[in-house]
Amino acid sequence: MYLDIIHAKLRMVMGSKKKSWYNMILDELGRYRKMDFTFASGRILGSMCTEPFSIAKKAYRYFLETNLGDPDLFPGSKKVETLYLSFVLDLLNAPDTAGGVVSSGGTESNITAVWLAKKLSGKKKVIVSEGVHFSFQKIASLMDVELVVVPLTKRYCIDVSMVRDKIDDDVAMVVGVAGSTELGMVDPIQELSDICSERNVFLHVDAAFGGYVIPFLRELGYSVRDFDFKFKGVSSISIDAHKMGCSAIPMGTLVVREKKWLEDISVESHCVSGKKQAGLLGTRSAGPVAAAYAVTRYLGWEGYKKIVKKCMNNTLYLMEKIENIGLNVVVEPCMNVLGVKLKKPYNVAEKLTDHGWKVNIIDKISSIRIVVMPHVTKKVIDEFIPVLKKVCKEEGEI
Ligand SMILES: *Cc1c(COP(=O)(O)O)cnc(C)c1O
Repeated sequence: MYLDIIHAKLRMVMGSKKKSWYNMILDELGRYRKMDFTFASGRILGSMCTEPFSIAKKAYRYFLETNLGDPDLFPGSKKVETLYLSFVLDLLNAPDTAGGVVSSGGTESNITAVWLAKKLSGKKKVIVSEGVHFSFQKIASLMDVELVVVPLTKRYCIDVSMVRDKIDDDVAMVVGVAGSTELGMVDPIQELSDICSERNVFLHVDAAFGGYVIPFLRELGYSVRDFDFKFKGVSSISIDAHKMGCSAIPMGTLVVREKKWLEDISVESHCVSGKKQAGLLGTRSAGPVAAAYAVTRYLGWEGYKKIVKKCMNNTLYLMEKIENIGLNVVVEPCMNVLGVKLKKPYNVAEKLTDHGWKVNIIDKISSIRIVVMPHVTKKVIDEFIPVLKKVCKEEGEI
């Protein structure tokens, strides 16, 4: 008996000695990875990303070593990119003349859109609302542009009359948001489109989050504002596969009404194949593109519709539970993003973290944000609500 234990121990020691350097490195990484939150646990409530579908993970691995910056070497990868782009162009009702560039996400798509509008117009002013994504702060600091910030309405959308007032001959671009980062609100894109057509100004619609939500919500009969290329004044749209596209990070797209515009942001690319390269990045893997394509093929229109329906149902379920414990939402949600009004959002969020739950804080409107992504199921909500209630009682919120 005793000897058995000693032998077992010896085997363990010998075994670990034989453990290869390769495995030790992987073990080390495994320990770090354990420090991370995971989407699968359901404890991430504030992120706009989710666990990629398993087919996305497989597709990503197939294309790991490829380089879309060098398309002559990887014509298959280029083909996948073309196929993915045609799906997105369709989704957004883009005209036949339209084109797109794949990006690493909403930030890069916004940078590229501003780059394009500046090139096309030779002007520097960009009109945004207070609710625009913070990537525009980076843009203002990085590129020689002047942000003109207009206020939000009581419903947290861009004030269209202010946009009308602010447009002058120096404006390169107006930005509308379809699914705001803070509350999922949709600006009146149709009205912005009318104004921008009339004044001949580039209208960029930031649908990084909403692009994969709104088309499906509308078909499900929800009264959410439309936002896409059906409106003639819309010049470009940004849409992220790594948010509600349920694919892997980093993957976004900028779609433009006229493919030929992309020539203005293309440069001759020596050293790598292909005569010209459009967009910001050089060397980039087709892994995320293949992943996004795989998910769109796998889910199709009906699959996404089902996911959006479930997320929206869960959002309304969560809202009801939140109101039942005596809290208030910031505004009636129009998609699967919910703001919860709090006096001390930092304290509440910190205590929730202590209990293993992660929400985001919107300090501008004294609230926390919950994004009801596919991993935020009814079961997760039922586990979360008692914790939220306890924490809010302790903090005197209810
Ligand atoms: C998430 C988001 C972005 C930024 O996208 P990244 O992928 O994080 O670069 C931009 N705009 C909106 C509306 C977003 O929701």
